[in-house]
Amino acid sequence: MAHNQENVQKQEQAAFATPTFATHTMNRFDPADVDLSGVLENNKKWASQVKEEDPDFLSNIAKQQTPKILWIGCSDSRVPANVVTALPPGEVFVHRNIANVVTNSDLSCLSVLQYAVDVLKVEHIIVCGHYNCGGVTAAMGHEQFGLIDNWLRNIKDVYRLHEAELGAIKDETDRLYRLIELNAIHSAKNVCHSTIVQNAWARGQTLTVHSWAFDIETGIAKKLEFNACDGKQLQSIYVTRKD
Ligand SMILES: [Zn+2]
Repeated sequence: MAHNQENVQKQEQAAFATPTFATHTMNRFDPADVDLSGVLENNKKWASQVKEEDPDFLSNIAKQQTPKILWIGCSDSRVPANVVTALPPGEVFVHRNIANVVTNSDLSCLSVLQYAVDVLKVEHIIVCGHYNCGGVTAAMGHEQFGLIDNWLRNIKDVYRLHEAELGAIKDETDRLYRLIELNAIHSAKNVCHSTIVQNAWARGQTLTVHSWAFDIETGIAKKLEFNACDGKQLQSIYVTRKD
């Protein structure tokens, strides 16, 4: 490779490498740190590291955010959107709840969706489920855990809708993994069923809804079988406009 070309490539890589989230730069939380001073110290180190790598980065993103991606994922501590996608602050608008459930009556999730689509004009919505999801595992079982059981009931509905497919899977882990995938797909479809997304498509806005599943053990996310960039795939009962 010509020397100049190599330099240009190095500069380009540097421009996209800011800031880093590699785990070797992170410390585990010390339970003895009762006033969280160690966490604040971590934060200071992180901020100075970012400043060292790119002195203008934080002052630039302080002016405005222009993320192109909305991430809807699980609250699970092992699936942090920016870390697993290696995207820096400013790139991903995020909503997380237990087991990445999207329902038509969750004001918080709908508000995030509306702001992301109508105001920020994100171009991609990723609904990302994950294997080893405690929420989906609980939903597949028959124990009570408290208020959360009423939230997880949404996933029992997904099970019921796909009972024939799921019932045919003999291995329990395989059945759970498939329910995790179906739950992410179901949530992605619910995103599409919203008036927010249907109206965005009707006015010609570029917007693709993706369903993914993340494997904590390998750190790899994969695409599931559902994604949509217009309303053509909507089941007719969910179509709210005829244009
Ligand atoms: Zn989970």
